[in-house]
This record gives sequence, C-alpha cells and structure tokens, in this order.
Amino acid sequence: MIDNYKIEQPLAYNFLINAIKNNRISHAYLFDVSNLNDKKKFAIAFAKYLICHNHYSNDENCCNCNICKRIDNDNFPEIKIIEPDGLWIKKEQILGLQNEFSTKAIESKYKVCIILNCEQLNKYAANSLLKFLEEPEENIITILLTNNIGQVLKTIVSRCQVITFQKEMEFNLTHDEEYKQKVNNIIKFIKTLEMKKLETFLVTKNTWYDSFKSKEDNIMAFDLLLHFYRDVLNYVTGKKLKYFIDYISDIEDIAKVNDIMKLTKKIRFLVELQNKIDVNVNNELLIDKLIINMAEV
Ligand SMILES: [Zn+2]
Repeated sequence: MIDNYKIEQPLAYNFLINAIKNNRISHAYLFDVSNLNDKKKFAIAFAKYLICHNHYSNDENCCNCNICKRIDNDNFPEIKIIEPDGLWIKKEQILGLQNEFSTKAIESKYKVCIILNCEQLNKYAANSLLKFLEEPEENIITILLTNNIGQVLKTIVSRCQVITFQKEMEFNLTHDEEYKQKVNNIIKFIKTLEMKKLETFLVTKNTWYDSFKSKEDNIMAFDLLLHFYRDVLNYVTGKKLKYFIDYISDIEDIAKVNDIMKLTKKIRFLVELQNKIDVNVNNELLIDKLIINMAEV
C-alpha cells in the first residue's frame, strides 16, 4: 500500500497524496525511477489508493471493498499494465488499451494504465499514446515509468507530470575491511549522537571526516545512516531487519531510545540532507546541521 512509501519516498508520496486530496490529479504521470520493479509496486499502490472507495492506504484492512482484493489478485480490469513485448512497446498494445478503456469506468471512478519502460515505446506506439495523452478522458490516469528518462521522447515527457523518485543505492554490507571500518565508524557516530547528543562534535574527526572525504563518500555515509535508521524502524515495528542483520545489538541500543515518531522524523531529515549533498559544497556545514538537528529530535 502507498503508506509503505511514506518514509522511503516522502517527496513522491506527499506530492501524489496532496494532489488527490486537493483534487488536482494529472491525467498523465511520468515516474523517473531507478528501481523499476519496486516503483511498479508504488504505481499499483497509487492506483489502488485512487480506485478504492475507502482510499485504502494503511495497514488496516479495507473491509468493505472487494476491489482491493481483486487488485491484489491481479484481477481488476480497470487497472492495466503494459510492458515491452520483446524490445519494444508496440502500437497494437496501446490501441488495445484504448479500446478496453473506451467505455466509462464502471466499478471505479478511475481507470489506471501503467506503462513500464516507456522509453521502449516504438515510434508508432508513441504516436498513438500521444494522441491519447493530448485528449485525456477525465476518468483515465496514465502512469508511465522509466529508469532511463533521457531516452523517453521529449513530446511524451512534456505531456506528463514528471515525478523524480529518490535514488536507492544498491545496499549491501558485505564488503572489504575498509568498508567494514566505515560501517563501524558510522555506528559509533550514531551511538554518540543518540547517547551524548552534541558531544558528537568531539568525535566527528575520527568517525566521519577521516573516513568520508569525497562527495561520493559522503553520499555513502548518509546512505549508511539512512539504512541503519530504517532498520531501527523495522525493529521497533516488529519487522525483520533488512540491512544491519549482523548488528542487532547496536540496532537494539538505538531502538531503546527512539519511538516510531522520532525515527520517522530522523529518517525524513536524513533524506532531506542527503539530497543537499549535490548542491551543497560545504560538507562540514551539512554535518554540523545533521548533528544539531538530530540531537534535538
Ligand atoms: Zn479497498
């Protein structure tokens, strides 16, 4: 469900949920993503949120609605998923979709079409889709997904509301000794921050600046922080650890001094700061901000 993405993809999540709340839904979205499979799930969750009469979004069961169940079972005709047939998405696939959708939505307010790898629309398919996007029917929402937005036809991009998802790096803790040392430093940094708050300034040289020097290093440091806190959140909410499985006692230590609210706040804050690495030339300022703000939560 879409609430699963509240923390991982706060910008996309808030943007779309607000659009629905304010009744400003676009007819066409282009999701610019790095992990296509995961964001396909996001697109389906969004469609479900749009279509379910109860705006099904959270962990509670949507009891009055068999639509949700049918969406889960891939058995709901008003959501269509199109993906490349071989190398390309072909014209017949787009025409077939238009045919199927040409009648008004019967069971739901919207019909949703999800097109995966839209950079692989061939010329003819793209032309048919363009017509479709130019004269949108009120009840049809098209969601295009690509992990290669540079290859998507400009004419298509210009007719969609583009939503850029935050990149998730491949995250894998099994690396060499040097990497392990970095992981240990970050954990030491987190522990100092959680237990001794502003005293973290006394250890930043050893835990951060000596290990993370370049811009890439800093992105990696934030990535470690984020995944660590996500795992603490997993722990607190009774879910399985995903990344720091071998660091359970460290996770427990941090879980003891945080509740879900605090963790959510911290994760959001880390995502915000990580996005600033690209534009912010002064890393020290960024890390100062990190320590001060995290200590306050
Ligand atoms: Zn429902």
